[in-house]
Amino acid sequence: MAYPTYQPRTKKTLSWSNTRITLLQRCERKYYFNYYTFALKDQYPELWKETLILKKLKSLEMRIGEKSHYLLSDYLHLLKKWTLNAESITDEERETKIQELKNQIKSEMEEEFAKSQSTDFHGLEGYFDGFGLSEHFYGENVEDQLPIAIQKVQDNLDRFIASPRNGKIENYFSSGHLVYVEHPRNSNFEAMKVDVSKIEGLKDITVMAAPDFGVTISNTDYIILDWKSGKEDITADEISNQLKVYALKMLIKKGSTNMEWIRIEAHEVYLQSMNSHGGILKQQDIDDIITRIQTDVAAQKSFLIDEDPYKNEPVDYVIFRKTTNAKKCETCTFKDVCQKLEG
Ligand code: SF4
Repeated sequence: MAYPTYQPRTKKTLSWSNTRITLLQRCERKYYFNYYTFALKDQYPELWKETLILKKLKSLEMRIGEKSHYLLSDYLHLLKKWTLNAESITDEERETKIQELKNQIKSEMEEEFAKSQSTDFHGLEGYFDGFGLSEHFYGENVEDQLPIAIQKVQDNLDRFIASPRNGKIENYFSSGHLVYVEHPRNSNFEAMKVDVSKIEGLKDITVMAAPDFGVTISNTDYIILDWKSGKEDITADEISNQLKVYALKMLIKKGSTNMEWIRIEAHEVYLQSMNSHGGILKQQDIDDIITRIQTDVAAQKSFLIDEDPYKNEPVDYVIFRKTTNAKKCETCTFKDVCQKLEG
């Protein structure tokens, strides 16, 4: 069996993102597998290779979220073009174009599914240029789930277009404001970085954050929107930490974390219901998220040799505790390597 040639790990300082810290809180061992895979290489070369594969795999449910973001972004870029160019496009032509986008995402999902289904993940053939579903790695037959997944992605777009949110977005485009629409197919990691070097305790830390949609109404007035394809959490805080980080990023870009004279309105929009959660941010929200990142980073550092965020080398894997919640393990992509790695 021929293994692909692996590149040496490029040095990365410790980073914080909402996704990363959520993973650490979910299961420390999973966090280790995902962010410190390289540490397995010398002692457990076979597990290291398998973990590299598992890291790239996503479940069908995760793909629904990813594709929903792609489809919505494709549509919003089209809507922006129609609006900014003042294209005289008939309703029928619009319908046709939207249907083309939906057909395109369907073909994409079908092709990728077929490719994943025919990939020998255990032989590692075709891994690095491939697309993979964790269900296929674990030998599950999910063929009947594919049409349902495609429908969910397309329905998310249909609900968005039918909602009042669509008209509001069209107004942002036509009003002449500066509007940002994320390109999730080609994420710009450099642009995602938030410069927190001047904040106490965060000097060597990289913070990553990028909202799906933003509007600059004026030099002091901003709107941030983030699409959510998962289930709505009605118990969650009205303004999530993720939204607070986006607002922090905007303030840092302006040169100060002081919100005086600045108005930032931020919402998470749930595509399954088109309900949104959010509001106008206050100084306390910004102060809270800074404290939260500092606390999280201190926790992350405790898993590093010498607590050194620059070297970013993990302590022994046994220190990263496994969750005791069996439900979390059921859907965990890393369950195979987790069972094989003793301790
Ligand atoms: S299988 Fe369970 S314990 Fe192991 S990494 Fe996944 S969630 Fe954590």
